[in-house]
Amino acid sequence: MATLGRPPVITVLGHVDHGKTSLLDRIRKANVAARELGGITQAIGAYQINHEGQIITFIDTPGHAAFSAMRERGGRVADIAILIVAADDGVMPQTKESIEHIKVAGIPYVVAINKVDLPQANVTKVKADLAELGQYVEGYGGNVPVVEISAKTGQGIDKLLETVLLLAELEEMKDTSGEPTSAVVIESQLSSGKGPLATLLIKSGKLSPKDDLYFGAKKVGKIRSLTLASGQSTNLATPATPVAVLGFVEVPQVGDIITILPGEAIARGAILGKSVSTSIESEPVKPNVIIKTDVAGSLEAILGSLPDTVNVVSSSVGAVSESDIALAVSDHATIVCFNVKAGGTVAKLGQIEKVEVVSFGIIYELFDFIKELGQRAGKAEALKIVGEAKVLKTFPFNNQIVYGCLVTAGKIRLGDFIGESKIVSLRIGKETAKEAKKDQECGIILEPNLDYKIGDAIISNNP
Ligand code: GDP
Repeated sequence: MATLGRPPVITVLGHVDHGKTSLLDRIRKANVAARELGGITQAIGAYQINHEGQIITFIDTPGHAAFSAMRERGGRVADIAILIVAADDGVMPQTKESIEHIKVAGIPYVVAINKVDLPQANVTKVKADLAELGQYVEGYGGNVPVVEISAKTGQGIDKLLETVLLLAELEEMKDTSGEPTSAVVIESQLSSGKGPLATLLIKSGKLSPKDDLYFGAKKVGKIRSLTLASGQSTNLATPATPVAVLGFVEVPQVGDIITILPGEAIARGAILGKSVSTSIESEPVKPNVIIKTDVAGSLEAILGSLPDTVNVVSSSVGAVSESDIALAVSDHATIVCFNVKAGGTVAKLGQIEKVEVVSFGIIYELFDFIKELGQRAGKAEALKIVGEAKVLKTFPFNNQIVYGCLVTAGKIRLGDFIGESKIVSLRIGKETAKEAKKDQECGIILEPNLDYKIGDAIISNNP
């Protein structure tokens, strides 16, 4: 097997009770080197194993919430997903949601059919269920890799790890240790006695003690200590390595991108860009909605009569779940319920994540609300989005970065914002300019700078 440039980062998704925790525990116990050394593996939200000489990073924050939050704020965190489906239970609502998450993240995945040790295990049914959702596994009309496992007995786990590594090879895990440092917060807490404690997963570059910590342009601390999941402290952490970091002034949020120089953060606006970019000159933006109902009949009825002014990102029967909230966060969706609600903890999570959850018992009120949503979104976007440009080249200038761009929609104007950064210089050719219109090329400087690469779309707005 070819050596990878860095460890692949793996996440496990699936329905509750299908065996995520058992699988992660089994892999960790069987493979963690620290155990052999007699070290204590601490729970920091991720761990690494050594599988036949190849390090693999597993994110073990359970549930989808973290996964979505990370994708939302940090772009791709996991390189590969393991979709776990219990062989005795088959595809369940959260299996479907997991598939949605994986599709949105755009990462490859392997299906792990778990609990094959049980007498009632029905592997064929799982494959058929998946095919019904358009996910065709190997040997069942498609090429999604599938491995039969038992987290309980250990059957198939090695094969699963092999498959993960094969996918990693195809994905080409680039060594990014020479690039500017950027790390994503995958877990954070206030530790009594130690202060804010966060686990960072390094996306590129390196971290060492005494490095300054920045969130965008804001300094948020200085590294006091770095601890690996094995419990050992380290002076140097490299890409795809999870490290527990002490030294933050405040507890950072899961999904925040942390850098060691100011202003290198990826703008949230840049990540949000995709869904709003079409709005500038063409059709108005459609708000995303998640529909939840009490029974299948009402769901069908609602879906059948929804106006096309909204975009349904997910719909299912049952109370609002944590993963609905997570999906709503990542897709900026409103959760619209008919005869169901969000329970206590889920409702609280919704409040924390600022997700709008609205419940109706009368169907026409629900439709009135949906109509209003469409109008609301149209107005908001018309006010805000000003232009979109594609980065053609980048070059340094007086310690700053100039982005050579082609305006692809609307206008790019001096003083407009991109995320939280401002366009502080705009030139067309050698001349300074106040605005550049569609199809014009221009050079812009952002303050604070954002880490755009060639080919990225820059979306500007005027809040
Ligand atoms: P999670 O909610 O997805 O994290 O699922 P857990 O790992 O907590 O597993 C749920 C239940 O299924 C637990 O009682 C596990 O002991 C059991 N379980 C997990 N994997 C297997 C397996 O391979 N075989 C059997 N028989 N039981 C399993």
